[in-house]
Amino acid sequence: MTATATATGQGALSLGAGLGFGGGGIERAAALRGDPAALALALAEPGARILPMLEGQPLLAGPDQDRLGLLAPDHPLIGGAAPIWLGRHEGRAFLACEVAPAAAAAAALPPDHAFGDLRRALPRLGAADAELAAMARALALWHASHLFCARCGSPSDMAQAGWQRLCPACGAHHFPRTDPVVIMLVTAGERVLLGRSHGWPGRMHSLLAGFIEPGETIEAAVRREVAEETGIPVGEVGYLASQPWPFPASLMIGCTGRALGTHIVLDPVELETARWMGRAEAAGMLAGRHAEVAPPRPGSIARMLLEGWVAGRIG
Ligand SMILES: [Zn+2]
Repeated sequence: MTATATATGQGALSLGAGLGFGGGGIERAAALRGDPAALALALAEPGARILPMLEGQPLLAGPDQDRLGLLAPDHPLIGGAAPIWLGRHEGRAFLACEVAPAAAAAAALPPDHAFGDLRRALPRLGAADAELAAMARALALWHASHLFCARCGSPSDMAQAGWQRLCPACGAHHFPRTDPVVIMLVTAGERVLLGRSHGWPGRMHSLLAGFIEPGETIEAAVRREVAEETGIPVGEVGYLASQPWPFPASLMIGCTGRALGTHIVLDPVELETARWMGRAEAAGMLAGRHAEVAPPRPGSIARMLLEGWVAGRIG
């Protein structure tokens, strides 16, 4: 049985709730980006809130850091930081801004507020908060690493409320990048292929993944990455769902792949280890009962694909 994506791109729905960063229902209202007057009016709305970002980390709030630390636009921490327009949700306007480390250190944050690691916070955030944080982090990191024009080398300026950079010297427009990554549930009958990259925490394993290269289709990238990393040939490839993954700018494209063989020839540069795992064993791993293998992070598309496969919903 294969899950199918709907016309609205909400394929993740068939995988169950909890797929972080996607599907938070944020209305991007992109027309405001190029309309300074409308943007100023939105900023002045009583319900408008700004998400401060510090070197890629969002301000989080609550004793368990389970929501975003959204501040009113006149909060001292915001200062004169240039706002990035994120969009509207339930009638309220949401923006983000990058704050300088010195400003963050000097500001009196509200109680229970702290800048924190978004990857760790993801399982605790609501869907709208997660989507806002993903947008804010991806854009803030893009600005921080694209201060100069890629065409002529001159310093460039933020434009379109954070959704472009403009070069005043040569006139080039630069747009935020998104890097497509395939991540694949490769199965051989009742077994799934798992791998572990060097440097991952603990005993964590996950599905194989890799960047799509220029001039390559999604299907070809799935087959190439699996063959390169494990030597496993893959036949039929299907699409399941996608997940923005702003570490720093990936879009994870979740696929299925049918293995045409099972003999693993590991690429030790790419992977520390790779293995096949049966459905019952995978269920135990997901429940935290496996002695050698820990599952992918909660909220990640790898975790959702594995949970869907173990439950018989996909694969
Ligand atoms: Zn330029």
